[in-house]
Amino acid sequence: MTAPHDAAVREIAPDVLAAFESAKGFMPVDEGLALHAAAVRAAGLGLPLVEVGTYCGRSTILLAEVARAAGVLAVTVDHHRGSEEQQPGWEYHDPELVDPVVGRMDTLPTFRRTLHAAGLEEHVLALVGRSPQAAAAWGRPVGLVFVDGGHTDEHAGGDYEGWAPHLAEGGLLVVHDVFPDPADGGQAPYRVYRRALDSGAFAEEEAAGCRSLRVLRRTGPGL
Ligand code: SAH
Ligand code: MG
Repeated sequence: MTAPHDAAVREIAPDVLAAFESAKGFMPVDEGLALHAAAVRAAGLGLPLVEVGTYCGRSTILLAEVARAAGVLAVTVDHHRGSEEQQPGWEYHDPELVDPVVGRMDTLPTFRRTLHAAGLEEHVLALVGRSPQAAAAWGRPVGLVFVDGGHTDEHAGGDYEGWAPHLAEGGLLVVHDVFPDPADGGQAPYRVYRRALDSGAFAEEEAAGCRSLRVLRRTGPGL
């Protein structure tokens, strides 16, 4: 489907790209550029762009830049205590992100510095809490849902169940860390991607994806 706003696809501002590249996080540059391009297309709907999984704001920068240009809001959800694999002793733990006072991870201060450095604070609404609770409290259609939160079936599935129903028709569901082959990574995001396609309410925008970043367009009701 060729949307009328496809003409809006454009390059990312160089200072924003530099801020993205220097931010802490887990979004590779090539997949980030695909996320940015998807957000540009989705922003044509004039609705908020929602991210689940803020971490330190690396991918948030990309949505915020699009939000600024399009005059919409980027919304990013995280409890800021980290996913399972980011806890002490696990593969993706970063000791700099532990709050010494409470002895738990806290990515919120780093996230705020990231957005401030990028000059994008005023285009972002940060929701601090659990994704299912935020989704349940959310009350309006959105133009993009980017699922990049917890990688268990409970969390990734909850992100899909909570946020996909808010997606407007024509809006985009973007899922990160989709690995069809279990040898390449965990299967929960892949199962979310499959569920969306199998629901009949989504169609894949194959040309819009990049490696593990998949882009689906909401084509109808039925969720
Ligand atoms: N998008 C980020 C990476 C996100 S990492 C980047 O570009 O670097 C995943 C994040 O999801 C972690 O910060 C973790 O705290 C958050 N998370 C995991 N499960 C969650 C849940 N159920 N609700 C809210 N946040 C969650
Ligand atoms: Mg990810």
